[in-house]
Amino acid sequence: MPHAEFVLSGDLILADRILPAGAVLVRDGRIADLGPRAEMLAGLPPGVEQSAFDGFISPGFVDLHVHGGRGADFMDGNEDAFATVLRAHALHGTTSLLPTSTAARHEQILAMLDLCRQFKLRRDARGARVLGAHFYGPYFRAEARGCHPASPIRAPEPCEYEQYLEFADAIATASIAPELPGAEPFARDCAERGIRLNAGHTHATFLQMAAAIDWGVRHVDHLYCAMSDKAKLRQQQPYPMQGGVLEATLYFDELTTEVIADGKHLSADLLLLAWKIKGPDRLALATDCNRALDLPEGSYIFGPEADGEPFISHDGVGKMPDGQALASSVRGMDHMVRTFASLTGRPLWEVVRMASLTPARIAGWDSELGSLEVGKRADFVALGRDLEVKATYIDGIKLSE
Ligand SMILES: [Zn+2]
Repeated sequence: MPHAEFVLSGDLILADRILPAGAVLVRDGRIADLGPRAEMLAGLPPGVEQSAFDGFISPGFVDLHVHGGRGADFMDGNEDAFATVLRAHALHGTTSLLPTSTAARHEQILAMLDLCRQFKLRRDARGARVLGAHFYGPYFRAEARGCHPASPIRAPEPCEYEQYLEFADAIATASIAPELPGAEPFARDCAERGIRLNAGHTHATFLQMAAAIDWGVRHVDHLYCAMSDKAKLRQQQPYPMQGGVLEATLYFDELTTEVIADGKHLSADLLLLAWKIKGPDRLALATDCNRALDLPEGSYIFGPEADGEPFISHDGVGKMPDGQALASSVRGMDHMVRTFASLTGRPLWEVVRMASLTPARIAGWDSELGSLEVGKRADFVALGRDLEVKATYIDGIKLSE
């Protein structure tokens, strides 16, 4: 039985520092108080349950971009798959996430959005909280589709996307390649319904990205991956060289972005460049994790189990079957935090902020969650000194083993 009131103690990872020997008082699923442990215990009435961790109490991680885990993909189209992925990521410290769709058939996308709505309304204490869908594809640039299947890639048509937008209450963010015909009306229709807009899987020019900001685009999916840059655009226009999505993302302060910090997609220098230019409040860590999380190396399906795209899990990352290109990650957010911290040398509190408060703000949830602050939801990860997950709490309830 969860206790209505209890104290958790350890080194608290706050948004701007670490508070050693701290404690958090949880009451009815929210943070009621926090501070130095000795002071808090002195002021506590007798009988309040206490748990102490030799390590860190971190805010729960928030993942803006995640496809699957433990053998299931959000596109599999059933409740069991959703529950499996939500639990798998919670065990890696993610307490809130955006189930991310893939380029797929119309009915498959509708089924996935319907499941997002069901899971958003119902709080299931066995897995991560659903903040809303990340509508991801099919409105991608065909040449930038990455590991998504070719046949469903298309330009937005109102008669089709109106059906998706009927689930607007359950869609947190939508991705679009801004250079596609029909991208602007799609973007404006999303913005009107309160859906946040991302640019992703796109070969847009710098100027097309500037226009997309005017329509409401505010975030860019997985920086450096499946996007144009000056080298790519030079193949179409030899001179003058022009910037693409990469340069525009680094340039415009209006744009936030995310990196897949699994140590396989991006080298330390690219992580540092993104961090230096965007800063920890505009750069989030995302997993982009597929169904191979926590499973042995081998062949798997990206997207719907029935007719998605084959990929292989090898060397700690997803790869296309020919092994030449990457196909999303196979790691949870705890791994991304450890890897970003060790590759860049940034302080732990700052890296954790990029995996919690920053993505919470990008998704529009930072008043409710994303940091250890009085009044916010009691979503925590207890981390050992080696930053391995020891326990996950969501709404003040500890996830069972
Ligand atoms: Zn992608």
